[in-house]
Amino acid sequence: MLQDKSQHLTPVSQLGEFGLIKHLTEKFSLENTSSELGIGDDAAIINSENKKVIITTDVLAEGVHFNLGYVPLKHLGYKAVVVNLSDIAAMNATPTQILVSVAASNRFPVEAFEEIYAGIALACQHYKVDLIGGDTTSSHAGLVLSITAIGLENSENLVSRKGAVPNDLLVVTGDLGGAYMGLQILEREHSVYLANPKMQPEMEGYDYILERQLKPEARTDVKKILADLEIKPTAMIDISDGLASEVLHLSDQSKVGFRIYENKIPMDPLTISTAEEFNLNPSVCALNGGEDYELLFTIAPHNFEKIKNHADFSIIGHAVEEEQGNYLVASGSNELVKLTAQGWDAFLK
Ligand code: ADP
Ligand code: MG
Repeated sequence: MLQDKSQHLTPVSQLGEFGLIKHLTEKFSLENTSSELGIGDDAAIINSENKKVIITTDVLAEGVHFNLGYVPLKHLGYKAVVVNLSDIAAMNATPTQILVSVAASNRFPVEAFEEIYAGIALACQHYKVDLIGGDTTSSHAGLVLSITAIGLENSENLVSRKGAVPNDLLVVTGDLGGAYMGLQILEREHSVYLANPKMQPEMEGYDYILERQLKPEARTDVKKILADLEIKPTAMIDISDGLASEVLHLSDQSKVGFRIYENKIPMDPLTISTAEEFNLNPSVCALNGGEDYELLFTIAPHNFEKIKNHADFSIIGHAVEEEQGNYLVASGSNELVKLTAQGWDAFLK
């Protein structure tokens, strides 16, 4: 990807570290009133105005979290921001600022940084968050991108993983499994390319799931939708590792068990048909796939009428007593399948 244009590339040494930071960040401006001081000083200043400050951070390492063989750098920058904003949204808070730290080897020219920052800028614009600082260093191997997101929120709005009680409804936003199937397509086409670089990748018709993998969005919109419905979740988490794993986290923190109904798990038709193409069980892809960045939350049962026909939400189950454990109710058979974070062998049989 980078080699193609090698004759026009600018080594980072030409700008130097300070020159590079200035070059990358000069187009960013501060839009939120809480961003009192941004890039350029020893530290940034946030004016939290009596709100709680919510902070989260995530590191993405090349070869571990992404493969630059098929992930464009601009998408990487965008997604790195989104995964952090998703964590802020999962606290029912509004993201306001980010910090970005980059470590890269000299294999990465200035143009590569420009692409990453173009993605970061797009995310900042879309989600109305301000870039207020970061750090830049060199690395011997590969690219590491670390992002910290900050949100400000009135304390009465905050929702943690703890707070679900038996009989609460379990609700999920959007649809699941798409990001995982998008990854399967990218990996398949990448290995075809490695085997024969003259082969054209066959990506047509897979747009939705490719977008779910390469350009996910954080559900920062859900906070307002729920507030308008006068619903406050009792517990909430974002789906980064797959539905099963997140249900177990809610269970663990709230000290309840869950029943989830396989036939209620929302999935896009393209996710289902692609899973079938790969001989995968679509439900397993939704349960274990991950990277969907939807929100999973519990609500008191009296909210059922408000949410049951809402296009943004699917009620997929309910909380039970902790002793009753966490089980999937299989479609058709109604068989109870124990939920585990990994290892779906029992279910695959
Ligand atoms: P220091 O030596 O005090 O850490 P730096 O030279 O690393 O200062 O950073 C100078 C300013 O640029 C600081 O405001 C810092 O937050 C910001 N900054 C550094 N690297 C980045 C980056 N990769 N992205 C955004 N801001 C950055
Ligand atoms: Mg520094």
